[in-house]
Amino acid sequence: MSYHVNKKGYYGEYGGAYIPEMLYPNVEELRQKYLEIMNETSFKEEFNQLLKDYVGRPSPLYFAKRLSEKHNAKIYLKREDLNHTGAHKINNTIGQILMAKRLGKKRIIAETGAGQHGVATATVCALMGMQCIVYMGEIDITRQAPNVARMKMLGAEVRPALSGSRTLKDATNEAIRDWINNPVDTHYIIGSAIGPHPYPDMVTRFQSVISEEIKWQLKEKEGSENPDYVVACIGGGSNAAGTFYHYLDVPEVGIIAVEAAGKGINSGESAATSVLGKTGIIHGCKTLLMQTQDGQITEPYSISAGLDYPGVGPMHSHLYTSGRGEFYSATDDEAMVAGLELAQLEGIIPAIESAHALAIFEHKKFKKDDVVVISLSGRGDKDLDTYIKYFKL
Ligand SMILES: *Cc1c(COP(=O)(O)O)cnc(C)c1O
Repeated sequence: MSYHVNKKGYYGEYGGAYIPEMLYPNVEELRQKYLEIMNETSFKEEFNQLLKDYVGRPSPLYFAKRLSEKHNAKIYLKREDLNHTGAHKINNTIGQILMAKRLGKKRIIAETGAGQHGVATATVCALMGMQCIVYMGEIDITRQAPNVARMKMLGAEVRPALSGSRTLKDATNEAIRDWINNPVDTHYIIGSAIGPHPYPDMVTRFQSVISEEIKWQLKEKEGSENPDYVVACIGGGSNAAGTFYHYLDVPEVGIIAVEAAGKGINSGESAATSVLGKTGIIHGCKTLLMQTQDGQITEPYSISAGLDYPGVGPMHSHLYTSGRGEFYSATDDEAMVAGLELAQLEGIIPAIESAHALAIFEHKKFKKDDVVVISLSGRGDKDLDTYIKYFKL
């Protein structure tokens, strides 16, 4: 079985490009050119140079000694939290801004929920001197004021989405409307391994630098490129896709995804998409998503803004359905405790998203000599208020 995208843009039965007719030329242009552009020597050189000098790659692979003793396994952390802007999202936005330049685009649009992808997009637009418009739900604009300020300081325009629930899905609708109206000069930077083909594959390839580095870093430390398990949290699934990519076809490496169970899988307040989801269409692709009986997308919930998404990328739906990946979900409480534990055992304050991956030890027991690599997708600075309130610090 293949876990990679096929020529038609599908992972098993998931993926494809379910888009309005008027968007077809934009998506088709990207589909025809993305692989060719990514394979150009000059593209690779510029991408790798920026990852090195601007993002600060390679990110360290850190052996977490005290965490390993506590949980009886050899635990390594892939330190995406040390990247410029504090998470893995920048790997993708650097790649896409270079893609936009090669396609001759002058204007960048993006949607954002919590504002993390908006900040990563505004950052690379400043870097390249490109116009940047970020659509954001009106509710999210008030909830996420610091990230709105960051985007503005970076020179982006933040446009409120005023319709519907005034959150992420409404911002996405606005971004798509903008793209339809500006098909020639605009590139739409999607922030996770979702969207119509070729976005999931393109984003995954940009993020695959994570597992490319893990391979040689682990070889240096353990004498083998292959851990027993790779573990990542899943919102839309981009840090997970990057962490899994080079191990998809290596059956001896176990793939573990951790979703947000919120207040509990059956509480009605969760984002455990693969368990609760059914096949449907979201953001232009066919994938597992949380929906009501009559197909309305359900409002997701998680304490971590980055996992608060009702769908999951098509690659992950396929990993789940095919059984190649093991899927777990961690509650708010489990994640918060795991985040505090990492802070006190290793001196690293993780993003609450990443803390969900760390909560795997509540759900699965490893063998003492198992090598377990966990994607530490981001740092916890942005989450300090949530930690303060939760633990009454
Ligand atoms: C956005 C975000 C995520 C979730 O996004 P994916 O596309 O699933 O990786 C996870 N961790 C951090 C730190 C984030 O900012």
